[in-house]
Amino acid sequence: MNSFTPNGLIVAHHGISVEVLFEHGQRRMVRVKRNSGHVVGDNVVVTGEVLKRLPRRTELRRRDARGSIHLVAANLDVLGIVVAPLSPGGFIDRAIVAAQSALLKPFLVVNKCDLEGTTELLAELNRVYRGSLPIFPISAAERSGFAPLEEFLSHGHRGAFVGTTGVGKSSLLNVLCPEIDLKVGSLSLYKGMGRHTTTVSTLHALSGGGELVDTPGFRDFGLVDITVEELAEYFPGFEDHRNVACKFRNCRHRTEPGCAVLSLVEQEQIPAERYATYMVILKEVESLQAAARSRDWKN
Ligand code: GDP
Ligand code: ZN
Repeated sequence: MNSFTPNGLIVAHHGISVEVLFEHGQRRMVRVKRNSGHVVGDNVVVTGEVLKRLPRRTELRRRDARGSIHLVAANLDVLGIVVAPLSPGGFIDRAIVAAQSALLKPFLVVNKCDLEGTTELLAELNRVYRGSLPIFPISAAERSGFAPLEEFLSHGHRGAFVGTTGVGKSSLLNVLCPEIDLKVGSLSLYKGMGRHTTTVSTLHALSGGGELVDTPGFRDFGLVDITVEELAEYFPGFEDHRNVACKFRNCRHRTEPGCAVLSLVEQEQIPAERYATYMVILKEVESLQAAARSRDWKN
């Protein structure tokens, strides 16, 4: 590699071109093939019109409604899981598992803390998840509670947010990086109007430090796609079992002999609630996997 070609970072993806931010602060659009596989967060070397991608540290993927897998962003460090009062159950656990299996550190953002019922929700979330990940209560509407979150992101973290529609991800991103200027509460409306909006992924440097990637299709995904193996390995609340391994490496912690999780549940070191929730999600993931497998056979 010649020393005159500076390293760049893909900060926006427009389908047939990418915007590259170079080490010295210059930006330039570079044309790419539609299915080049480059994503926001990729480190690249650009020589003329030729863009060479450097190896990735992490890759974050999502599955669309048809089952196809898409790479969302590269080289992220953290994944913010956004919830609000009345968020569907199971989402947090799945998102934690998905983040950890992609080698990202998860953190929890509890939005709409201006609403009633927040105290109870926060107490519950703290009880269940305090040992697993940092928790940031905020209100995007009132712009309150942001200092600890900004402080967390400032430690050299590059992250993205996930959460179901309506929890306030657009509102939150607008507060954290005003230049993003997302339309609040308008995503489903856009789709309904059948308006063609090219999905543009972008990477934003935060004024206080840290970076956020915004990928509209990803921001809005509801059901996080995980495998049975990932669930068994990364389920929040089972962290202690990593020091005491199960007898079988592919243990699903159901009835297997020598299961470390089961004995921790018996000793009440893993709360019964955690184990019950795990079993519910395990069954869901197993049947989704079985359905996917029989689809593959038929095709
Ligand atoms: P997204 O679908 O996750 O991007 O959610 P939006 O940011 O579009 O917000 C969905 C709705 O929640 C909008 O009507 C927002 O005004 C509202 N909202 C967002 N943040 C807050 C908050 O902190 N408190 C309250 N009460 N409402 C909020
Ligand atoms: Zn086990």
